[in-house]
Amino acid sequence: MSDETESAGLDFIRQRVADDLASGKHRSVVTRFPPEPNGYLHIGHSKAICLNFGLAREHGGQCRLRMDDTDPSKESYEYVDAIKRDIEWLGFEWDDVFFASDYFEKLYAHAVALIKKGLAYVDSLDEAAVREYRGTITEPGKPSPYRDRSVEENLDLFARMRAGEFSDGEHVLRAKIDLAAANMKMRDPPIYRIRHATHYRQGDAWCVYPLYDFTHCLSDAFEGVTHSLCTLEFQDNRELYDWVLDHTDEPCRPRQTEFARLSLEYTVMSKRKLLQLVEDGHVDGWDDPRMPTISGLRRRGLTPDSIRRFCDRIGVAKHNSEVELALLEHTVREDLNERCPRVMGVLRPLKVVIENHSGAAENLDAAYWPHDIDKEGSRQVPFSRELYIERDDFAESPPKKWHRLAPGAEVRLRYAYVVKCTDVIKDDAGEVVELHCTYDPETLDAAPADGRKIKGTIHWVSAKESVECEVRLYDRLFSVARPGADGVDFLEQLNPSSLEVVKNARVEPSLLSTKPGDRWQLERTGFFYVDPDSKPGAPIFNRTVALRDSWSKLTAKKAASAAAKPKSPGSSQKAAPKPRQVLGDEAKDLVARHGIGEDEARLISEEAVLKTLFDSALPATSNVTGLAALLVNDVRRELKKEAKLPFGGSKLAELLNLVEDGTISGRTAKDVFAEMARSGERPKKIVESRGLAQLGDAAELESVVARVVLESADLVSRYRAGNRNLLGALVGQVMKATGGRANPRAVNEMLRQKLG
Ligand code: ATP
Ligand code: MG
Repeated sequence: MSDETESAGLDFIRQRVADDLASGKHRSVVTRFPPEPNGYLHIGHSKAICLNFGLAREHGGQCRLRMDDTDPSKESYEYVDAIKRDIEWLGFEWDDVFFASDYFEKLYAHAVALIKKGLAYVDSLDEAAVREYRGTITEPGKPSPYRDRSVEENLDLFARMRAGEFSDGEHVLRAKIDLAAANMKMRDPPIYRIRHATHYRQGDAWCVYPLYDFTHCLSDAFEGVTHSLCTLEFQDNRELYDWVLDHTDEPCRPRQTEFARLSLEYTVMSKRKLLQLVEDGHVDGWDDPRMPTISGLRRRGLTPDSIRRFCDRIGVAKHNSEVELALLEHTVREDLNERCPRVMGVLRPLKVVIENHSGAAENLDAAYWPHDIDKEGSRQVPFSRELYIERDDFAESPPKKWHRLAPGAEVRLRYAYVVKCTDVIKDDAGEVVELHCTYDPETLDAAPADGRKIKGTIHWVSAKESVECEVRLYDRLFSVARPGADGVDFLEQLNPSSLEVVKNARVEPSLLSTKPGDRWQLERTGFFYVDPDSKPGAPIFNRTVALRDSWSKLTAKKAASAAAKPKSPGSSQKAAPKPRQVLGDEAKDLVARHGIGEDEARLISEEAVLKTLFDSALPATSNVTGLAALLVNDVRRELKKEAKLPFGGSKLAELLNLVEDGTISGRTAKDVFAEMARSGERPKKIVESRGLAQLGDAAELESVVARVVLESADLVSRYRAGNRNLLGALVGQVMKATGGRANPRAVNEMLRQKLG
């Protein structure tokens, strides 16, 4: 049967396992999950985790956790611990933990046995020469002059490699296979190399380290693995995997099967890139809620259930494809909707005085759950003379169909009364600072007696009793769907407004004692997770996801999909990702003329305001991609809140130019934009008046770096002793010391040089 055929709703791997059990080839299933402890696990790994642990669970088999730790330069116990924590949190248990490095002695013996059979030799060409001698896809390789060393000489050299007589790169051990093989992996691949480095687990016991292709298959065999599942990029390695097992005398014969990696829009998944984001201070550590790491998603507020459900939904297939972020968000909303009680919080408070209210607070009953969710529970919310509502829920000159508050208009306060705005109080600058309202005491739980219609309901909190708190709003980490594609530096594509911190938000008093790890829905605002940084009485709320579900809309709008994905058991009734929407002419024109991404082009062409801003900013800036990202992310978000924007295209261009010419960093641009959206002030003036210009002066930066190095003696000495991970912390210190006004990459570079 072909790899992609489905029967009984099984994906091709589950089908293969079922076949192997049915035919008696295996009596039970043994899988493994083999991460390298050189970084934290990410959502891509969770796909492999769900598959490997899931298969074992479905068949009453076993799944081992193996640290694939054969590269001494990048591995550490910090990562081992994080990996274990994340797998457990996802809800899986391993039957055993193994470390490939514990097999070093056994692997070494197998290498010696290969030499004795004439199937491996010590090559003394340097790395570049080995590569050159390997030939190309169209030309066969040619033998190294050392290929025909005698068995005795090979044994002697290999023993001396182990004994530490040679320096790194002086010799390698290669399998002797076929230099004319069509599969390049089979052209005498290196299987051992010399590395004089301290291994986090084996210390200095070894200075020769086995390479992946030799280690992985043998480790699988040592552990009795039946099905060795890995991602597609290892397809060509499979022949070598089999060759090694064919020529060593391990009785167990695991079979390697490859499946597609998960990639997700608007993020990166390579551990190297994730490490760079952490080390260079672009995010606040591996568990920054914007990171696609399991620990980041946990801190963002996702549940293990939603991640498992997401993995189930995307299924297991043999073609790489990119999953839309909207699908993940949809899955998360679905999950949180059922588990988060609904309460009220105001992100940007605007004071409301109820003039005909006595002043004493009255406690109103408010259910945690709406009628259509079958759960009980309620609390009381105080209603008093002074309240806060969301600034965005008031418009002085409302657009058509505005159902919220406006001068003279009526609106219902959730769980409470209908109020009418009678007066608008402004400060000297003309900004609205307070609203005066009257309330209709007859409207608690009842429509107005005279039959007048109240169209809108808004949320609110009592001014005195509510709790001041910090709210962190997250957006996608990158501005483009495929960061780093087409040779662009992925760091250039970071979304400068991926984090917005709102300091003076207020939540209803029932949340005073909320604890880190709690989850709430703030009505009309989103799902929130109480951050571990919260202090008693001063909670911090991370927005996990907003309420609006673009996925349901997308799927409704998009054409039906012909390319339905293989489904895993039980997922048949769920929505499968649909292909992208066809681009309109105007969007196509934007892509063709300005080279901006299709998603951006579509959004800009669909929204007249964005298109106008785009056209008016274009003549004044050369950074078209930046402009598109700014419009699609930041401006669009403003538009959702504000019917009328206080800036035009020329101010947007000015902002982009300040970043282009290095006056401010992308990070600062975010703050400037927020201020500009609030006050309509020119970006240049904002930068000037708030002293936001970047440290352009290298000498000034040098002196800050020098001071931090002096003050962080402990970090510095641990860094110098080999803990390279600490660079990120040092960069962070410098960034802090400059009030965020330094360029993190320049800081990174300067620190590296200074610390040697
Ligand atoms: P990187 O290349 O970024 O270092 P990796 O794939 O080498 O990542 P490992 O720690 O070796 O990271 O991965 C452990 C297991 O997880 C491997 O079996 C790998 O195939 C699987 N895996 C890693 N990334 C993904 C992904 N995006 N989707 C599905 N499986 C993945
Ligand atoms: Mg790997």
